[in-house]
Amino acid sequence: MKGFTSLKNIQKDLQSYTVTCVELVEHYLDRIKDQKDINAFVETFDVSASAQAVLVDAKIKEGKAGVLAGLIISIKDNICYEGHKLSASSKMLEGFESLYSSTVVERLLKEDAIIIGRTNCDEFAMGSSNETSFYGPVKNPLDKNKVAGGSSGGAAASVAADLCMAALGSDTGGSIRQPASFTGTVGLKPTYGRVSRHGLIAFGSSFDQIGTFTKNVDDAALITEVIAGKDEFDSTVSRKEVEPYFEEIDSQKDKKQRIAYFDCYVNHKAIDPEVRKRTIEIIEKLRLEGHQVDEVKFDYLDQIVPTYYVLTTAEASSNLARYDGIHFGYRSTNATDLESTYVKSRSEGFGREVKRRIMLGTYVLSAGYYDAYYTKAQKVRRLVRDCTNEVFENYDFIISPTSPHTAFDLNAQKDDQIKMYLEDIYTVQANLAGIPAISLPLGIGSDKMPFGIQLMTSAFNEKKLLSFSKQVVNKFALTSELEKA
Ligand code: GLN
Repeated sequence: MKGFTSLKNIQKDLQSYTVTCVELVEHYLDRIKDQKDINAFVETFDVSASAQAVLVDAKIKEGKAGVLAGLIISIKDNICYEGHKLSASSKMLEGFESLYSSTVVERLLKEDAIIIGRTNCDEFAMGSSNETSFYGPVKNPLDKNKVAGGSSGGAAASVAADLCMAALGSDTGGSIRQPASFTGTVGLKPTYGRVSRHGLIAFGSSFDQIGTFTKNVDDAALITEVIAGKDEFDSTVSRKEVEPYFEEIDSQKDKKQRIAYFDCYVNHKAIDPEVRKRTIEIIEKLRLEGHQVDEVKFDYLDQIVPTYYVLTTAEASSNLARYDGIHFGYRSTNATDLESTYVKSRSEGFGREVKRRIMLGTYVLSAGYYDAYYTKAQKVRRLVRDCTNEVFENYDFIISPTSPHTAFDLNAQKDDQIKMYLEDIYTVQANLAGIPAISLPLGIGSDKMPFGIQLMTSAFNEKKLLSFSKQVVNKFALTSELEKA
């Protein structure tokens, strides 16, 4: 079978009957089996994917196929699909089966996408390396001694290793963009409230957002357009019209943009010199192309990661209170009464990182500390949001690295929480401010591993972001260098 390039190309083959959806599903299921050691999938949905493939093939014959016909896509193990298991890669939800489908899954299926399976992730999406998963770490398909990033490590690996054509992940503080950076894929976190969170297992509800991993920007545009938009099941989702991201993907072609960058990001003391060099090179090249690129001040570098961790752990401690050993999944067999059911089920069901965050979150919300931590962090969040929005009064985009370095070795940072939390240094701003951000595979290190460049823009400007991203990838992609490497 030909290698996958883009959904539109596959659809041409499907239309000319060079290939069928049934064959595509077989092909990808075989690949997933062959590459089991990567540990990208927790489970494949062989039966439902094959059945959907038969249906979509019939629709193609009748000329009635949806816009995502033939798209073989994976979903992160925290996105509900009716009648299918999901666990947030936690022992806590072992055996749990979803009673309903998330809005994103319904929309994918309605447009004839085929969901091939659920992907491994950090437990309850908490982590930056996919090493907190109950199912073990995901290996980076480009170098199996390295992590794939997190928390959507399996999603990123599933696309990078060609185990499917695209993936849905979730991004609370960088969980789509950082793994995309580590695996050389395109990772888009839409605006908070652009895509419904109905049926996404909650972590930090005022941060969580579902987004895509793809091989190219066009596919990100196409899929996001399908999954975005108002939804009666999520009151935080916007009613704003979804723009034609895909059809107007060239809307910014040849337009000169105003682009800001922060010196404190680009010249951060922890940044790898190669990542810095490439970021500066792209900034220079954009200038040469006639874009206005300016250094802009950002005063909250030291505050963003702590603020993110105070607020998300607070929200997580509340969201995860529902896992009591009674309503969902795991229940301790050592319990003797109601209280020991709670205590033992939670103690045995949750992993170390999740417990750490629940305790931290409970602490910052406790009487006596609430104002000192939670309220204070809310105020800082507002300042970060205001300051970010101010930048967009004069600029179209903010450019930065996605991550300070390429993928690190498995086990290298596992026991260093501070280091792990600082992985999010460039990504949490977008979540704190609620704005869209994308990681584009534009860098390659001397370790032959890819890294991403991040573009952020103002809320609900996905169309512009995607269009400009496509231009940037067309101009600065490193395909030849990646091939050389
Ligand atoms: N690395 C961040 C964390 O551990 C981001 C997680 C995410 O976006 N889900 O919280």
